[in-house]
Amino acid sequence: MMQIMKILNKGNAKTKKGEKFGYKTFGIHLAPSTLSGFNACLWASRACIQACLNTAGHGQRESVQIARIEKTKKFFQEETLFMEKLVEEITAAIKSAKKANLTPCFRLNLTSDIPWEAKKINGQTLFELFPQVSFYDYTKSFNRMKNFLSGKMPQNYHLTFSRSESNEALCELVAKLGGNIAVVFRNSLPEKYLGKKVIDGDKNDLRFLDPKNSIVGLIEKGKAKNDESGFVVCTL
Ligand code: SF4
Repeated sequence: MMQIMKILNKGNAKTKKGEKFGYKTFGIHLAPSTLSGFNACLWASRACIQACLNTAGHGQRESVQIARIEKTKKFFQEETLFMEKLVEEITAAIKSAKKANLTPCFRLNLTSDIPWEAKKINGQTLFELFPQVSFYDYTKSFNRMKNFLSGKMPQNYHLTFSRSESNEALCELVAKLGGNIAVVFRNSLPEKYLGKKVIDGDKNDLRFLDPKNSIVGLIEKGKAKNDESGFVVCTL
């Protein structure tokens, strides 16, 4: 068996908020951007790399950072073994959530932007292997988002587009196509952005429950508080 630490975690402070709503989120923290020597965030912007929540919470510990880098290397170097272990862990996670009377859901890109729809194990994606389970992620890939909006993604995989300082034009396109967009704001949420209603994305992380056509407003956190690039939107 593959010598790696556990792949899935039981969520972070944000995903744990979903328990009040009856959901248990399990996720994967890979080392973002090129921290591992492999690029886990192909569509990252300069400012999002700076502001990435990778170093929030437990991520402040050096041992956690080392573990994430090791896990990411395994993913890129031994993908089949990684996927086999992930399937085992998802199976166990579903059981444990059900035991706690919670509905399991999975966010595979907590700190990455891997196109999981393209990853297969014995010819099947994770979404096909676990068709009754909800998966969700944020992405900065316009193509992934476009595929989601045109019904070309697995039915049980929900995507929210993620705004950065350099993709405003793509956000406008996504908004026109009716997709949800996560936007980081300074200090407070406006009522509307790009002509769409702003909902409070900090209440929980259950993005697949959000109404369509929404802007998912998030208040700046951690290093984003120092951002002056335009990654954080100031509407005052
Ligand atoms: S794309 Fe997301 S996970 Fe990757 S560096 Fe940017 S904020 Fe972090």
